[in-house]
Amino acid sequence: MAMNADAIVVGGGLVGSAIAYGLACEGLHPLLLDEGDVALRASRGNFGLVWVQSKGVGNPTYQRWSRTSSELWPQLAERLRAETGIGVAHHRPGGVAVCLTDAEFAARSQMMQDMRSQMSDDGFDYRMLDRGELKELLPGLGPEVVGGSWSPYDGHANPLYTLRALHAGLAARGGRYVAGAKVTTLSAACGVFTAETARDRYQAPRLVLAAGLGSATLAPQVGLHIPVVPVRGQIIVTERIAPILRMPTLILRQTDEGSIMIGESREEGRSDDQSGIEVVQRLAARALATFPLLAGVRMVRTWAALRVMSPDGYPIYEQSPSFPGAFAATCHSGVTLAAAHALRYAKYIAQGSLPDSFEIFHSRRFEADVRLAS
Ligand SMILES: Cc1cc2nc3c(=O)[nH]c(=O)nc-3n(C[C@H](O)[C@H](O)[C@H](O)COP(=O)(O)OP(=O)(O)OC[C@H]3O[C@@H](n4cnc5c(N)ncnc54)[C@H](O)[C@@H]3O)c2cc1C
Repeated sequence: MAMNADAIVVGGGLVGSAIAYGLACEGLHPLLLDEGDVALRASRGNFGLVWVQSKGVGNPTYQRWSRTSSELWPQLAERLRAETGIGVAHHRPGGVAVCLTDAEFAARSQMMQDMRSQMSDDGFDYRMLDRGELKELLPGLGPEVVGGSWSPYDGHANPLYTLRALHAGLAARGGRYVAGAKVTTLSAACGVFTAETARDRYQAPRLVLAAGLGSATLAPQVGLHIPVVPVRGQIIVTERIAPILRMPTLILRQTDEGSIMIGESREEGRSDDQSGIEVVQRLAARALATFPLLAGVRMVRTWAALRVMSPDGYPIYEQSPSFPGAFAATCHSGVTLAAAHALRYAKYIAQGSLPDSFEIFHSRRFEADVRLAS
Protein backbone atom coordinates (compact mmCIF):
# COMPACT_ATOMS: atom_id res chain seq x y z
CA MET A 1 0.00 0.00 0.00
CA ALA A 2 1.35 3.46 -0.82
CA MET A 3 1.70 5.99 2.00
CA ASN A 4 1.03 9.57 1.00
CA ALA A 5 2.54 12.87 2.10
CA ASP A 6 2.94 16.44 0.83
CA ALA A 7 6.61 15.81 0.16
CA ILE A 8 9.10 12.97 0.36
CA VAL A 9 12.61 13.81 1.50
CA VAL A 10 15.11 11.01 0.86
CA GLY A 11 17.98 11.11 3.38
CA GLY A 12 17.74 11.91 7.08
CA GLY A 13 21.17 13.54 7.55
CA LEU A 14 21.54 17.21 8.35
CA VAL A 15 20.64 18.33 4.82
CA GLY A 16 17.47 16.25 4.41
CA SER A 17 16.39 16.78 8.02
CA ALA A 18 16.80 20.56 7.84
CA ILE A 19 14.80 20.67 4.61
CA ALA A 20 12.08 18.34 5.94
CA TYR A 21 11.78 20.44 9.08
CA GLY A 22 11.65 23.60 6.96
CA LEU A 23 8.91 22.11 4.77
CA ALA A 24 6.94 21.33 7.94
CA CYS A 25 7.42 24.98 8.98
CA GLU A 26 5.84 25.90 5.63
CA GLY A 27 2.73 23.93 6.62
CA LEU A 28 3.49 20.75 4.63
CA HIS A 29 3.47 17.22 6.03
CA PRO A 30 6.74 15.71 4.79
CA LEU A 31 7.98 12.15 5.06
CA LEU A 32 11.68 11.84 5.80
CA LEU A 33 13.00 8.47 4.62
CA ASP A 34 16.37 7.47 6.08
CA GLU A 35 18.42 4.38 5.34
CA GLY A 36 19.78 3.51 8.78
CA ASP A 37 22.92 2.89 10.77
CA VAL A 38 24.76 0.98 8.03
CA ALA A 39 24.64 4.00 5.72
CA LEU A 40 27.54 6.44 5.38
CA ARG A 41 26.50 9.42 7.44
CA ALA A 42 28.62 12.57 7.52
CA SER A 43 26.07 14.25 9.76
CA ARG A 44 26.87 11.85 12.59
CA GLY A 45 30.65 12.27 12.34
CA ASN A 46 31.46 15.90 11.66
CA PHE A 47 33.23 18.72 13.42
CA GLY A 48 30.33 21.09 14.10
CA LEU A 49 31.62 24.37 12.72
CA VAL A 50 29.28 26.96 11.30
CA TRP A 51 32.09 28.34 9.16
CA VAL A 52 31.82 31.24 6.73
CA GLN A 53 35.07 33.18 6.41
CA SER A 54 36.69 31.02 3.74
CA LYS A 55 33.58 29.93 1.85
CA GLY A 56 33.21 30.98 -1.77
CA VAL A 57 36.33 32.65 -3.12
CA GLY A 58 35.38 32.97 -6.79
CA ASN A 59 31.73 32.27 -5.99
CA PRO A 60 30.14 35.26 -4.21
CA THR A 61 26.71 33.57 -4.24
CA TYR A 62 28.12 30.78 -2.09
CA GLN A 63 29.71 33.26 0.35
CA ARG A 64 26.37 35.11 0.56
CA TRP A 65 24.45 31.84 1.08
CA SER A 66 26.85 30.67 3.82
CA ARG A 67 26.61 34.04 5.54
CA THR A 68 22.82 34.03 5.27
CA SER A 69 22.84 30.68 7.00
CA SER A 70 25.15 31.92 9.75
CA GLU A 71 22.81 34.88 10.28
CA LEU A 72 19.75 32.58 10.40
CA TRP A 73 21.37 30.09 12.78
CA PRO A 74 20.35 31.87 16.02
CA GLN A 75 16.74 31.89 14.78
CA LEU A 76 16.85 28.18 13.93
CA ALA A 77 18.47 27.26 17.26
CA GLU A 78 15.94 29.29 19.22
CA ARG A 79 13.00 27.90 17.26
CA LEU A 80 14.17 24.33 17.78
CA ARG A 81 14.67 24.96 21.49
CA ALA A 82 11.20 26.46 21.86
CA GLU A 83 9.48 23.70 19.88
CA THR A 84 11.42 20.65 21.10
CA GLY A 85 13.15 21.64 24.33
CA ILE A 86 16.47 20.59 22.77
CA GLY A 87 19.31 23.10 22.96
CA VAL A 88 21.73 22.63 20.07
CA ALA A 89 24.70 24.44 21.67
CA HIS A 90 24.91 27.02 18.92
CA HIS A 91 27.29 29.93 19.47
CA ARG A 92 28.37 32.67 17.09
CA PRO A 93 31.39 34.27 18.75
CA GLY A 94 33.33 34.63 15.48
CA GLY A 95 36.15 32.31 14.46
CA VAL A 96 39.85 32.27 13.70
CA ALA A 97 42.01 30.40 11.20
CA VAL A 98 45.40 30.15 12.89
CA CYS A 99 48.57 30.41 10.76
CA LEU A 100 51.76 28.67 11.84
CA THR A 101 54.15 30.07 9.23
CA ASP A 102 54.69 33.36 7.39
CA ALA A 103 53.78 31.62 4.14
CA GLU A 104 50.46 30.45 5.58
CA PHE A 105 49.79 33.96 6.88
CA ALA A 106 50.56 35.54 3.49
CA ALA A 107 48.33 33.05 1.63
CA ARG A 108 45.51 33.56 4.12
CA SER A 109 45.81 37.37 3.88
CA GLN A 110 45.58 37.15 0.10
CA MET A 111 42.54 34.87 0.24
CA MET A 112 40.68 37.10 2.68
CA GLN A 113 41.53 40.18 0.62
CA ASP A 114 40.25 38.47 -2.54
CA MET A 115 37.05 37.62 -0.69
CA ARG A 116 36.53 41.23 0.38
CA SER A 117 37.15 42.47 -3.16
CA GLN A 118 34.57 40.11 -4.66
CA MET A 119 32.01 40.97 -1.94
CA SER A 120 32.25 44.73 -2.45
CA ASP A 121 28.42 45.11 -2.62
CA ASP A 122 27.77 43.17 0.59
CA GLY A 123 30.94 43.98 2.51
CA PHE A 124 33.09 41.33 4.14
CA ASP A 125 34.10 41.86 7.72
CA TYR A 126 37.42 40.32 8.74
CA ARG A 127 40.80 41.20 10.18
CA MET A 128 44.22 39.65 9.85
CA LEU A 129 45.57 39.53 13.38
CA ASP A 130 49.26 39.41 14.21
CA ARG A 131 50.54 37.13 16.94
CA GLY A 132 50.09 39.75 19.70
CA GLU A 133 46.50 40.58 18.74
CA LEU A 134 45.59 36.91 18.35
CA LYS A 135 47.03 36.08 21.80
CA GLU A 136 44.60 38.54 23.34
CA LEU A 137 41.69 36.66 21.73
CA LEU A 138 43.10 33.20 22.36
CA PRO A 139 45.48 33.06 25.33
CA GLY A 140 47.81 30.06 25.43
CA LEU A 141 48.94 30.13 21.79
CA GLY A 142 52.22 28.39 21.08
CA PRO A 143 55.47 30.09 19.96
CA GLU A 144 55.04 28.87 16.36
CA VAL A 145 51.81 30.81 15.87
CA VAL A 146 52.37 33.73 13.50
CA GLY A 147 48.83 35.16 13.46
CA GLY A 148 45.51 34.38 11.86
CA SER A 149 42.34 35.59 10.17
CA TRP A 150 39.32 36.52 12.27
CA SER A 151 35.74 37.02 11.10
CA PRO A 152 32.56 37.66 13.10
CA TYR A 153 30.44 35.35 10.90
CA ASP A 154 31.80 32.05 12.23
CA GLY A 155 30.51 29.86 15.03
CA HIS A 156 29.74 26.29 15.99
CA ALA A 157 26.96 23.98 17.14
CA ASN A 158 26.49 20.42 18.34
CA PRO A 159 25.61 18.53 15.13
CA LEU A 160 24.06 15.55 16.91
CA TYR A 161 21.75 17.69 19.06
CA THR A 162 20.88 19.63 15.91
CA LEU A 163 19.93 16.44 14.08
CA ARG A 164 17.88 15.23 17.02
CA ALA A 165 16.12 18.58 17.35
CA LEU A 166 15.32 18.70 13.63
CA HIS A 167 13.76 15.23 13.82
CA ALA A 168 11.79 16.18 16.94
CA GLY A 169 10.70 19.48 15.38
CA LEU A 170 9.58 17.68 12.25
CA ALA A 171 7.45 15.28 14.30
CA ALA A 172 6.02 18.12 16.40
CA ARG A 173 4.86 19.84 13.21
CA GLY A 174 3.15 16.75 11.80
CA GLY A 175 5.93 15.36 9.63
CA ARG A 176 7.31 11.84 9.92
CA TYR A 177 10.83 10.42 10.13
CA VAL A 178 11.03 6.81 8.93
CA ALA A 179 14.22 5.00 9.98
CA GLY A 180 15.49 1.89 8.19
CA ALA A 181 13.86 3.08 4.96
CA LYS A 182 16.49 2.65 2.24
CA VAL A 183 14.99 3.95 -0.98
CA THR A 184 15.85 1.67 -3.88
CA THR A 185 13.67 3.09 -6.66
CA LEU A 186 12.30 6.52 -7.50
CA SER A 187 9.72 7.12 -10.21
CA ALA A 188 7.24 9.77 -11.32
CA ALA A 189 3.90 9.65 -13.11
CA CYS A 190 1.17 12.28 -13.52
CA GLY A 191 2.90 14.69 -11.12
CA VAL A 192 3.21 12.12 -8.34
CA PHE A 193 6.56 10.77 -7.14
CA THR A 194 6.92 7.26 -5.79
CA ALA A 195 9.77 6.18 -3.53
CA GLU A 196 10.11 2.46 -2.96
CA THR A 197 11.93 0.66 -0.19
CA ALA A 198 12.18 -3.11 0.29
CA ARG A 199 9.03 -2.94 2.45
CA ASP A 200 6.92 0.06 1.40
CA ARG A 201 5.94 2.53 -1.28
CA TYR A 202 5.57 6.24 -0.53
CA GLN A 203 3.93 8.85 -2.76
CA ALA A 204 3.94 12.65 -2.83
CA PRO A 205 3.74 15.55 -5.30
CA ARG A 206 7.19 16.81 -4.26
CA LEU A 207 10.47 14.97 -3.86
CA VAL A 208 13.74 16.14 -2.36
CA LEU A 209 16.82 14.01 -2.91
CA ALA A 210 19.20 14.70 -0.02
CA ALA A 211 20.72 11.27 0.62
CA GLY A 212 24.36 12.42 0.85
CA LEU A 213 26.62 9.97 -0.96
CA GLY A 214 23.52 7.83 -1.63
CA SER A 215 22.13 10.56 -3.92
CA ALA A 216 24.53 9.91 -6.80
CA THR A 217 22.91 6.65 -7.92
CA LEU A 218 19.28 7.63 -7.20
CA ALA A 219 19.43 11.03 -8.95
CA PRO A 220 19.19 9.89 -12.61
CA GLN A 221 15.92 8.06 -11.88
CA VAL A 222 14.19 11.45 -11.56
CA GLY A 223 16.25 13.50 -14.02
CA LEU A 224 18.67 14.94 -11.44
CA HIS A 225 22.47 14.88 -11.55
CA ILE A 226 24.33 14.69 -8.22
CA PRO A 227 27.89 13.51 -8.92
CA VAL A 228 29.17 13.50 -5.34
CA VAL A 229 32.16 11.49 -4.12
CA PRO A 230 33.51 10.71 -0.65
CA VAL A 231 36.38 12.62 0.94
CA ARG A 232 37.46 11.19 4.27
CA GLY A 233 37.84 13.39 7.33
CA GLN A 234 39.11 12.46 10.78
CA ILE A 235 38.47 13.89 14.21
CA ILE A 236 40.08 13.62 17.66
CA VAL A 237 38.17 14.28 20.86
CA THR A 238 39.85 14.94 24.21
CA GLU A 239 38.69 14.57 27.76
CA ARG A 240 36.68 17.47 29.18
CA ILE A 241 38.68 20.39 30.50
CA ALA A 242 37.99 23.89 31.85
CA PRO A 243 37.15 26.47 29.16
CA ILE A 244 40.25 27.51 27.20
CA LEU A 245 38.81 28.51 23.80
CA ARG A 246 36.62 31.59 23.53
CA MET A 247 35.89 30.91 19.90
CA PRO A 248 36.39 28.07 17.44
CA THR A 249 39.38 27.91 15.16
CA LEU A 250 39.37 26.05 11.86
CA ILE A 251 40.93 22.97 13.48
CA LEU A 252 39.98 23.26 17.18
CA ARG A 253 36.79 23.91 19.04
CA GLN A 254 35.67 23.39 22.60
CA THR A 255 32.22 21.93 23.20
CA ASP A 256 29.84 23.18 25.88
CA GLU A 257 30.72 20.06 27.86
CA GLY A 258 34.44 20.95 27.77
CA SER A 259 35.87 18.44 25.26
CA ILE A 260 38.32 19.78 22.69
CA MET A 261 37.54 18.59 19.18
CA ILE A 262 40.40 18.55 16.70
CA GLY A 263 39.58 18.18 13.02
CA GLU A 264 39.88 19.50 9.46
CA SER A 265 41.58 16.71 7.50
CA ARG A 266 40.72 15.80 3.92
CA GLU A 267 41.69 12.57 2.17
CA GLU A 268 40.47 12.25 -1.38
CA GLY A 269 39.94 8.84 -2.96
CA ARG A 270 39.10 7.20 0.39
CA SER A 271 35.70 5.53 0.57
CA ASP A 272 36.18 3.73 3.89
CA ASP A 273 35.42 5.45 7.19
CA GLN A 274 38.27 3.96 9.24
CA SER A 275 40.49 6.37 11.15
CA GLY A 276 44.25 6.00 10.71
CA ILE A 277 47.22 6.91 12.88
CA GLU A 278 49.08 9.10 10.35
CA VAL A 279 46.31 11.67 9.98
CA VAL A 280 45.55 11.58 13.70
CA GLN A 281 49.25 12.30 14.43
CA ARG A 282 49.24 15.20 11.97
CA LEU A 283 46.07 16.68 13.49
CA ALA A 284 47.46 16.29 17.01
CA ALA A 285 50.79 17.86 16.03
CA ARG A 286 49.10 20.95 14.60
CA ALA A 287 46.81 21.24 17.61
CA LEU A 288 49.82 21.05 19.94
CA ALA A 289 51.74 23.66 17.95
CA THR A 290 48.70 25.92 18.25
CA PHE A 291 48.01 25.28 21.96
CA PRO A 292 50.94 23.57 23.72
CA LEU A 293 48.85 23.20 26.89
CA LEU A 294 46.95 20.40 25.11
CA ALA A 295 50.01 18.20 25.69
CA GLY A 296 48.66 17.40 29.15
CA VAL A 297 45.14 16.62 27.93
CA ARG A 298 44.08 13.04 27.27
CA MET A 299 42.72 12.05 23.88
CA VAL A 300 39.64 9.85 24.43
CA ARG A 301 38.46 8.96 20.95
CA THR A 302 39.14 9.34 17.23
CA TRP A 303 36.88 8.60 14.31
CA ALA A 304 36.59 9.10 10.58
CA ALA A 305 33.59 9.96 8.42
CA LEU A 306 33.09 10.65 4.74
CA ARG A 307 32.46 14.15 3.46
CA VAL A 308 29.97 14.48 0.60
CA MET A 309 31.86 16.35 -2.13
CA SER A 310 30.76 17.66 -5.52
CA PRO A 311 33.44 18.04 -8.23
CA ASP A 312 34.03 21.74 -7.45
CA GLY A 313 33.14 21.60 -3.76
CA TYR A 314 30.08 23.83 -4.10
CA PRO A 315 26.53 22.72 -3.30
CA ILE A 316 24.20 21.25 -5.89
CA TYR A 317 20.69 22.67 -5.79
CA GLU A 318 18.42 22.07 -8.76
CA GLN A 319 14.92 21.19 -9.84
CA SER A 320 14.63 18.34 -12.32
CA PRO A 321 13.82 19.68 -15.81
CA SER A 322 12.20 16.39 -16.82
CA PHE A 323 10.36 15.82 -13.54
CA PRO A 324 9.39 19.23 -12.07
CA GLY A 325 8.76 18.91 -8.36
CA ALA A 326 11.92 16.83 -7.81
CA PHE A 327 14.72 18.81 -6.14
CA ALA A 328 18.34 18.03 -5.34
CA ALA A 329 20.20 19.21 -2.24
CA THR A 330 23.78 18.40 -1.38
CA CYS A 331 26.72 20.33 0.04
CA HIS A 332 29.94 19.73 1.94
CA SER A 333 28.98 22.02 4.84
CA GLY A 334 25.71 20.68 6.12
CA VAL A 335 26.14 22.13 9.63
CA THR A 336 26.95 25.60 8.33
CA LEU A 337 24.07 25.56 5.86
CA ALA A 338 21.47 23.88 8.11
CA ALA A 339 19.71 27.15 8.89
CA ALA A 340 19.59 28.25 5.24
CA HIS A 341 18.27 24.82 4.26
CA ALA A 342 15.54 24.90 6.92
CA LEU A 343 14.47 28.52 6.66
CA ARG A 344 15.17 29.38 2.99
CA TYR A 345 15.71 26.38 0.70
CA ALA A 346 12.62 24.59 2.05
CA LYS A 347 10.59 27.72 1.27
CA TYR A 348 11.75 27.65 -2.35
CA ILE A 349 10.77 23.99 -2.62
CA ALA A 350 7.37 24.65 -1.07
CA GLN A 351 6.87 27.48 -3.59
CA GLY A 352 7.96 25.21 -6.44
CA SER A 353 10.90 27.16 -7.86
CA LEU A 354 14.46 28.14 -7.03
CA PRO A 355 15.68 31.75 -7.30
CA ASP A 356 17.52 32.72 -10.50
CA SER A 357 20.68 33.31 -8.46
CA PHE A 358 20.75 29.55 -7.76
CA GLU A 359 21.52 28.78 -11.38
CA ILE A 360 25.19 28.79 -10.31
CA PHE A 361 24.47 25.74 -8.11
CA HIS A 362 22.86 23.70 -10.93
CA SER A 363 24.72 20.52 -11.89
CA ARG A 364 24.81 21.63 -15.52
CA ARG A 365 27.98 23.55 -14.56
CA PHE A 366 29.75 20.18 -14.62
CA GLU A 367 28.54 19.48 -18.17
CA ALA A 368 30.16 22.78 -19.23
CA ASP A 369 33.42 21.65 -17.59
CA VAL A 370 33.29 18.40 -19.55
CA ARG A 371 32.72 20.28 -22.82
CA LEU A 372 35.61 22.67 -22.09
CA ALA A 373 37.93 19.80 -21.19
CA SER A 374 37.18 17.78 -24.30
C1 LIG B 1 35.05 14.72 9.42
C2 LIG B 1 34.03 15.70 8.91
C3 LIG B 1 34.00 16.99 9.44
C4 LIG B 1 33.04 17.91 8.98
N1 LIG B 1 32.98 19.12 9.56
C5 LIG B 1 32.01 19.99 9.20
C6 LIG B 1 31.90 21.24 9.86
O1 LIG B 1 32.64 21.57 10.77
N2 LIG B 1 30.92 22.09 9.43
C7 LIG B 1 30.08 21.78 8.40
O2 LIG B 1 29.24 22.59 8.04
N3 LIG B 1 30.16 20.58 7.78
C8 LIG B 1 31.10 19.69 8.17
N4 LIG B 1 31.19 18.48 7.56
C9 LIG B 1 30.26 18.17 6.47
C10 LIG B 1 28.90 17.78 6.96
O3 LIG B 1 29.00 16.78 7.91
C11 LIG B 1 28.10 17.33 5.75
O4 LIG B 1 28.03 18.39 4.82
C12 LIG B 1 26.71 16.96 6.10
O5 LIG B 1 26.66 16.08 7.18
C13 LIG B 1 26.06 16.31 4.88
O6 LIG B 1 24.77 15.95 5.25
P1 LIG B 1 23.90 15.05 4.30
O7 LIG B 1 22.58 14.98 4.93
O8 LIG B 1 24.00 15.58 2.90
O9 LIG B 1 24.65 13.66 4.24
P2 LIG B 1 24.76 12.47 5.35
O10 LIG B 1 24.97 13.00 6.71
O11 LIG B 1 25.78 11.55 4.79
O12 LIG B 1 23.34 11.85 5.31
C14 LIG B 1 22.83 11.17 4.24
C15 LIG B 1 21.67 10.38 4.76
O13 LIG B 1 21.02 9.78 3.67
C16 LIG B 1 20.65 8.49 4.03
N5 LIG B 1 20.59 7.68 2.81
C17 LIG B 1 21.58 7.35 1.95
N6 LIG B 1 21.12 6.60 0.93
C18 LIG B 1 19.79 6.48 1.17
C19 LIG B 1 18.74 5.82 0.47
N7 LIG B 1 18.97 5.15 -0.65
N8 LIG B 1 17.49 5.87 1.00
C20 LIG B 1 17.24 6.55 2.16
N9 LIG B 1 18.20 7.19 2.83
C21 LIG B 1 19.45 7.16 2.34
C22 LIG B 1 21.68 8.01 5.03
O14 LIG B 1 21.08 7.11 5.96
C23 LIG B 1 22.08 9.31 5.74
O15 LIG B 1 21.39 9.50 6.96
C24 LIG B 1 32.13 17.54 7.98
C25 LIG B 1 32.15 16.23 7.46
C26 LIG B 1 33.08 15.34 7.92
C27 LIG B 1 33.09 13.95 7.37
